[in-house]
Amino acid sequence: MTDSSSPPCISRADRVFMNTYTRFPVCMKKGEGCTLYDTDGKKYLDFLSGIAVCSLGHCHPAVTKAVIEQAARLVHVSNLFYTLPQTELAELLVADSFADRVFFANSGAEANEAAIKLARKATAPERFEIITLEGSFHGRTLATIAATGQPKFQQGFGPMPQGFRHAAFGDIAALEKMTGSHTAAIMVEPIQGESGVRPLTQEYLTQVRELCDQQGILLIFDEVQTGMGRTGKLFAHEHYGVTPDIMTLAKALGNGLPIGATLATEEVARAFVPGSHASTFGGNPVAAAAAVVVMQTLTAPGFLDHVLQKGKILAGMLGRIATRHPEIATGVRGMGLLQALVLTEQGIARGSDMIDALLQRGVLANFAGNAVLRFAPPLVVTEEEIGRLADTLESILSCV
Ligand code: PLP
Repeated sequence: MTDSSSPPCISRADRVFMNTYTRFPVCMKKGEGCTLYDTDGKKYLDFLSGIAVCSLGHCHPAVTKAVIEQAARLVHVSNLFYTLPQTELAELLVADSFADRVFFANSGAEANEAAIKLARKATAPERFEIITLEGSFHGRTLATIAATGQPKFQQGFGPMPQGFRHAAFGDIAALEKMTGSHTAAIMVEPIQGESGVRPLTQEYLTQVRELCDQQGILLIFDEVQTGMGRTGKLFAHEHYGVTPDIMTLAKALGNGLPIGATLATEEVARAFVPGSHASTFGGNPVAAAAAVVVMQTLTAPGFLDHVLQKGKILAGMLGRIATRHPEIATGVRGMGLLQALVLTEQGIARGSDMIDALLQRGVLANFAGNAVLRFAPPLVVTEEEIGRLADTLESILSCV
């Protein structure tokens, strides 16, 4: 809550918003690259990028230009008509992924809803169950909180939609015990983002793929957080050499414009026919025009190499901090530019103080799963900016 010293925007907001968010007491006004400015003109180095969204940096000139031009030309017509930006985006996604077909939504939760509906429709009628993993996060709609393997998100909202089960993280025997003739799909995040940047192993994902193939179960990868270059490949599953039947995207797809997507193979996508599923805004021309620029930029030669290289630098710097402060952190985990400092009990106890101290010194990061400090900067982050983060973190840890 706010006090009399809070910026006016915050005290006004707190009078009218439903109380769903725990926000930093900062009202942001402007952004450029990896830098944000609040209404008092204070500057922040952004290692959150709107929770892995503004991957090309804030107000990337080519995205801004595409949005302005498209907004001046055509904003919305619904999916009763075709539009060029949406078609071009779908072509780019199909050209650069395993998928043959795309459905556009407006968010990650909606992309997952479409994936769940598609999986149920594309498999035999007795196959209705979706198995996800403990610790997973798939969104905040009723079906996606039922899918999410963290009971705290379901509390107070029951009864939950039927047909969701949660298997132990990374345990293939536990998963095998749950599958059967009623299983429609197994849905996993290759790296669990919200529960603390927890990568699954290559061995596990390979075994999951085999299990799905043997039993006629569909494999869904939720790449809402890990997709769109975040890990140094366009999609995180490319690191594992394991291909899903359905994949969901959102977050960084529109660099901040709201858009989600459900991608699938021809064979699976065939289950959707006119009327099966729809969205009034899904693939809106302005959001799609932004996403076209995102796809073009991410797939330009050298871009993803930059992500891998900067990811190594970030992981190295965080690793050295963990070594120097073993009372605070046990190490670092993640892939590309999704990295986490894994905290000890003492580190967890001091976690919010560390986040607050970073904020005071103008650096943005957050907790994920209450056990790690998560760093997900714009993918265009420079070595100098990573160095500034590391120096700030080091100075906080050394003086407390
Ligand atoms: N899936 C994953 C893996 C996510 O990390 C998130 C959001 O954090 C979602 C789904 C939900 O996305 P949205 O908030 O856009 O509905």
